[in-house]
Amino acid sequence: MSDSTDLLIPRPVRCVSTGRMFECDGFRFACQDSRLSLYERLLDGARSVPLSFEDDPSLPAEGYRLDLKSSCSVLYSHDEGGLFNGLATLRQMTLLGQGTIDECIIEDRPRYGHRGMMLDCARHFLPASYILRLLEALALYHINVFHWHLTDDQGWRLWIPSHPELVSVNPRQYYTAADVKAVVEKACLLGIEVVPEIECPGHVGALLASHPELGCTGGPYMLEDRHGIFDDVLCMGQERIYGILEDVFRDVASMFPSPRIGIGGDECPVTRWKSCPRCRARMNEEGLEDEHDLQWLFTKRIYAIVRKLGRTPVAWDEVAKPLSRGREVDPSIQMLLWRDRNAAATILANGNPVIVCRYDDGAYLDYRQVDDEEEMGNLGVNTLEMSYSMKLDYSPLAGHENVIGGQGNLWSEKILFPMQANYMLFPRLPALAEDFWCFDEAKDFDSFRYRLSGMKRILGTLGLDVDFRLS
Ligand SMILES: [Zn+2]
Repeated sequence: MSDSTDLLIPRPVRCVSTGRMFECDGFRFACQDSRLSLYERLLDGARSVPLSFEDDPSLPAEGYRLDLKSSCSVLYSHDEGGLFNGLATLRQMTLLGQGTIDECIIEDRPRYGHRGMMLDCARHFLPASYILRLLEALALYHINVFHWHLTDDQGWRLWIPSHPELVSVNPRQYYTAADVKAVVEKACLLGIEVVPEIECPGHVGALLASHPELGCTGGPYMLEDRHGIFDDVLCMGQERIYGILEDVFRDVASMFPSPRIGIGGDECPVTRWKSCPRCRARMNEEGLEDEHDLQWLFTKRIYAIVRKLGRTPVAWDEVAKPLSRGREVDPSIQMLLWRDRNAAATILANGNPVIVCRYDDGAYLDYRQVDDEEEMGNLGVNTLEMSYSMKLDYSPLAGHENVIGGQGNLWSEKILFPMQANYMLFPRLPALAEDFWCFDEAKDFDSFRYRLSGMKRILGTLGLDVDFRLS
């Protein structure tokens, strides 16, 4: 076999080669479909061979089959996911093959439907031009969800038409409506869903900097230039917090077509609520004894706002903590399981769809890749092998079938430039991608490490400068 199939990441479920190869550096499409316009351009080569598209109802969700011959290559699929997955594999094959493609049949399908990557653009701003290039790499590895963390203590990065003052705290370092449109459109043509995230009620330093009236003390508040968890959060005793959040989520929904919206929910201290007279009054009105239940009530309100917009909320797993106090948490909220295995049991049993992204099990791409204080990274260690062997199977826990997939998280406390982001993402993101895609029997860490030579060769051609750590 040639590099075109030998070095593929993730490894396809089945690949049968005739042993022959043909000259090919691209594919020419025999159909007019506007969804294919970007791939039509990306796959165009000087020695392109014709490619036709066929429907095959026997294929599973997101599955595809490629029958590759120089005379008549065919991509079989039965849904949009399968179509884009097949095209991504063809792109990777042309990049790896360098002019030669195996005559072969590839049959492939993913193990998990949610294969995500979160990029924090709030702690440090990364330009839209970088995100546009990164999307191509995500697609190449069948990552189909780009979770975009847009607001935090250190920045409000999304221009909100009804509240232009929100970005005034970080002039020139935010995404305009045109940036968002470009990212969403390109992602759509690559088969990637963009899930925007607005953090609340904690990690709202940037929001309080332009709206001090929404905090318990009234401020003044400064944009944070440190990193951590801060006591100043939204005041649960003030009805007006919902007015502005309703405006924000409505504008977010109008800019992002994703059926899902991230609502944050993590790391919210109750320190201010304990001593705030308005928060105390709200607790009395509602008959609450535990300050933590103020966040539980808040989540219910935000849930209703997002639902009214026809979207499904995605939240960090702290919003499920009230379950342990016997409170009800809506089982349709998609949970980002980031803390630890102990957090999983009650959430899975409650029926919430779960996206696994644990800090202690391979998903934290901001952590150092080796245990060496000279190594770039934050807080902990997350080796390549940890990412490759992240666990998504939570059986025998009740409700383990509610795991819909996983994601890698790149927090940007220490990421100032795209090249640093690339260093942290590659090769650990492709390792996670293979983890999310492949069934256990197809996984082999030594084989994966061998195939990284292909990744190393092709990322530069996507315009991503990468300085890799491969050990
Ligand atoms: Zn308060």
